[in-house]
Amino acid sequence: MSADEIRTRYERIRVEVGPGVTVVAATKYVAVEDMAALAEAGVEVVGENKAQDLEAKHSAYGEAFRWHFIGHLQSRKVKVVNRICELVHSLDSDSAAQRLEIPALVQVNLAGEETKSGVPEAELEAFLTSCPAEVRGLTTMPPLAEDPEASRPYFRRLRALADGHGLSELSIGTSQDYAVAAQEGATYVRVGALLYGRRPS
Ligand SMILES: *Cc1c(COP(=O)(O)O)cnc(C)c1O
Repeated sequence: MSADEIRTRYERIRVEVGPGVTVVAATKYVAVEDMAALAEAGVEVVGENKAQDLEAKHSAYGEAFRWHFIGHLQSRKVKVVNRICELVHSLDSDSAAQRLEIPALVQVNLAGEETKSGVPEAELEAFLTSCPAEVRGLTTMPPLAEDPEASRPYFRRLRALADGHGLSELSIGTSQDYAVAAQEGATYVRVGALLYGRRPS
């Protein structure tokens, strides 16, 4: 991976989303040794999906980044995440919430897709009411679509839900729809493939 290429793409995305949106580099495709290129490119915040990979990358590059967790959070992995991360984007279970010691965004499964994790919209109110963790906002992954505009209604719905619960942070948008997400009030976008010159998955 070339740090210069990553830097060019990262800066372009940052300009496009504007200063109110934090670009989180999703690192699930990045090998431990390639994390150096991200640091050299000026990436500040990284988001990892797996606790095991988080530990490996953090032990090699702990000082180089701020660490977020964006993958499915199992309660038995919370300890690792507490130790390393400043924010979880993907809280969706009571068992994980009970152990969590860092702030979180709650992942909402807006389309009710069975293959996706996240709290169903109908259960969000109850989840938030009983959640012992510090919740700062919401996250969603809209159904996979070719057209970024297909994500807009989901992002808009999530913004309305967040506003309704007095939550200010919104983690929406990936390589394929981050521009739409920024227009709909994202405070975080999570971008992987596009940064590394891969096709969005
Ligand atoms: C991989 C991933 C992303 C980034 O997706 P890209 O298409 O690579 O930009 C964002 N959020 C989560 C939860 C991911 O797993």
